[in-house]
Formats: sequence, structure tokens, C-alpha cells
Amino acid sequence: MAKEVLECSFCGRKKVETSLLIAGLDAHICDRCIEQAHGIVVEEATHTGNTELNEDLMLKKPKTIKSFLDDYVIGQEHTKRVMSVAVYNHYKRLLQPKSDDDIEIQKSNIIIVGQTGTGKTLIAKTIARMLNVPLAIVDATVLTEAGYVGEDVESILTRLLQAADYNLEKAQNGIVFIDEIDKIARKSSNPSITRDVSGEGVQQALLKLLEGTVVNVPPKGGRKHPDQKFIEVNTENILFIAGGAFDGIDRHISKRLNLQAVGFSASMNENKLEKDHILRYIIPKDLKDFGLIPEIIGRLPVLTYMNPLDKGTLRAILTEPKNAIIKQYMKLFEMDGIELVVTTEALDFIVDQAIIYKLGARGLRSLCEAVMTDAMFELPGTDEKKLHITAEYAEDKLNKSTIKKLKAVS
Ligand code: ADP
Repeated sequence: MAKEVLECSFCGRKKVETSLLIAGLDAHICDRCIEQAHGIVVEEATHTGNTELNEDLMLKKPKTIKSFLDDYVIGQEHTKRVMSVAVYNHYKRLLQPKSDDDIEIQKSNIIIVGQTGTGKTLIAKTIARMLNVPLAIVDATVLTEAGYVGEDVESILTRLLQAADYNLEKAQNGIVFIDEIDKIARKSSNPSITRDVSGEGVQQALLKLLEGTVVNVPPKGGRKHPDQKFIEVNTENILFIAGGAFDGIDRHISKRLNLQAVGFSASMNENKLEKDHILRYIIPKDLKDFGLIPEIIGRLPVLTYMNPLDKGTLRAILTEPKNAIIKQYMKLFEMDGIELVVTTEALDFIVDQAIIYKLGARGLRSLCEAVMTDAMFELPGTDEKKLHITAEYAEDKLNKSTIKKLKAVS
């Protein structure tokens, strides 16, 4: 009997015509067929990935986005609505089929103005969590123009790649939150007076990123240098959300309002509440007067604001969000078989302290920690089945703690 000639069971090439022939149970495959099959697998995987993304995103109508935000973010109704629409439009733009009607939907990058600790980062985080897209949180203050000490703006995309576990496709559909954007404002709105390298230079460098471009990104961060391998990241579908406190912008707003409407100012001065909420009248021109260059403002077309947190909001933050601080402590104690009860008076007391010491929402967590630490240390392993926290208990624990020193660093 003639010796069996080995061949690829897929393409029929004889063994001699291949570089490699791998044997299976009762079949063989050659190197070329392996490569081709691999290509198909990769393509299929990316394709399915895409459809998943599409389906996921298409399900989220603005009202769904808003109600998801409601579960985590207290108050800030206006911004939650505005952001829901902006995010919806952003992903609609992404999914829009290529058509020949020349209508190109522009990016809806967002800028949020509001005091620190009012939930700007929280909103960005919540949106990323809901959409299941990677999020990079970066601080504008560390960014510098190329050639200066600090980080290049490309480092923003390195962070995003890291957040996406280096999955380029995911990173390119992700969200970037740029905090403290106000710190890169130029110091004077008249460009000829100062040449403010750090601020305006960074704004210029950010422009391209915001608009949508292909950027060579050093995958491990750090400065670009010639022998480093880059990943090409296209920022066209990345949603940028910028946030900043813009301390003093209220003066620009009220000045403008006073100029616009005599009479309005009088009533405004009388009304403290109105003064606290002056940010609601913000328009792009105020950002320009503050020192953002018009090009940046143009690329952050959705402008919204955060209200300062009043007592009622702080109180709600303690108990209402899905992962509210008090709920977290309840869970922690529950795992030791201990029921945690915090009286209304104790909650009010904690909120009052946050206000007195100007700790804001961020301070609520540290205050609770100071109140609960002793019990979290002592109770596990004992027969205690209940922890009852009254205002007196909270006050006693806080007096013993160093929390009040926090004031200095807040
Ligand atoms: P910002 O980015 O405006 O400085 P953050 O989003 O970092 O503020 O808020 C700090 C913390 O305060 C959040 O992690 C959250 O626990 C709490 N917080 C602030 N504002 C709210 C809010 N409106 N609803 C719920 N929690 C809030």
C-alpha cells in the first residue's frame, strides 16, 4: 500500500507545500489556514463586542440615564437632566449609521461648574458605571505643555487605556473626566497682557484631544521619547467631561447680570438664596471672562452647574443613595450579626458638624468613621447584637477624635 501523503484537511495543501502542518485527531491543519482562521476569530470577536456595545448603549434613553443617576446622586436635578441628554446624544452620534446627507453630529463634551465636593466626579463615575465604559479621572493641574515639567496631555489617554485594560476599542468609547479645569485658565482675559505658559499652553494642547484626533499615546505613560512604542488612540468617540470650581466666577456672572438688567441686582442682593444659586445663570461668556480660551469653550458645548449642598442635601446623602454611607456601615455591622440603628438626631448632628467644620459631603464619611470606629473595633466577637447611635453617642465619639482638625486641611 502506498505511503499516506499528509495534507491540510482544510485547503488540501500537501505537507511539502506548507511551512507547518499540525495534526489533530483525524485531521491536519496548515499554518496558512491557522492564520486565516485566527483572523476570522478576531474579526468575529470585535464584531460581537461592537454589537454588545451598541445594544447596551441604545437601551439607555435619557430618562433611564437620569433615573440611574437619581439612585446615586442627590439633588442636582438640572445637571442630571442636561447630562442625561448629552450622554444620550453622544452615544447616538457614535452609533449613527454612515449616511450621505452630510449632517455630522458634533461631539457633546460637557463642562460642569460647581464648588468642590458637590458631586461632579460622582456624576461622571456614575455615568461610566451605568454605560459600563472605562473612565479616566485626571487632574488638569498636573498637565503641562510638552517640554515643561509635568505630564503631557497625552497622559490622559494613557490613563484611559489603563482603565480599559489596554482594550483600545473600549478606551476609544470611554469617558474622560478632567477635574480642576479652572486651574488652567489664563490669568487675564486679555491675551496680550500676560504670556501665561502653563495655563493657556495646556488649553491649546487639550483642544485637539477634545475635538477628536488620532494621538500617539505612550502606553505606560511618562514623557514621549523616540524609541518608545506608541498606541494610536482616536479620541473622536471619547466623551470628555470637564469640571471645576471656578472660584470667583460668580462675580463675573453678577456683573454681567447687573449690566444687563438694572433692578435685577437690587432684588438679587436682597435674596441670599439667589446669590448662592447664581451659577444657574452661567453662560459660556463667563467662562471666557474667567480665562478659558474661546476654542476650549467651543469644544465643551454642554455647560452646566452644580448647586451648593445645603443641609437637607447633606442629610439625604448620608442615607438615600443606593450605596449611601450609612447603608454601608449597616452592611458592615450586619456581617458581624449586629444591627446598626442611627437615630435621626444623630444623623442631624453629623450633618451639622459637616457644615460647622465646612467639610462638605466628603467630610460625612470621615465623620461617620470617627463615630463608628470604636464600635467596629470593640463589638465583633462579642455577644452584642445591636448598636444604637444617638446624638450623644456621636458627640462623645467625635469629641474624642481628631476629626475636628480636618478643618485645617479641607
Ligand atoms: P467634586 O467632584 O464636585 O469635587 P465629588 O463628586 O468628588 O465632588 O464628591 C465627593 C463625595 O461627596 C462623593 O464621593 C459623594 O460621596 C459625595 N457627594 C457629593 N455630592 C453628592 C451628591 N449630590 N449626591 C450624593 N453624594 C454626593
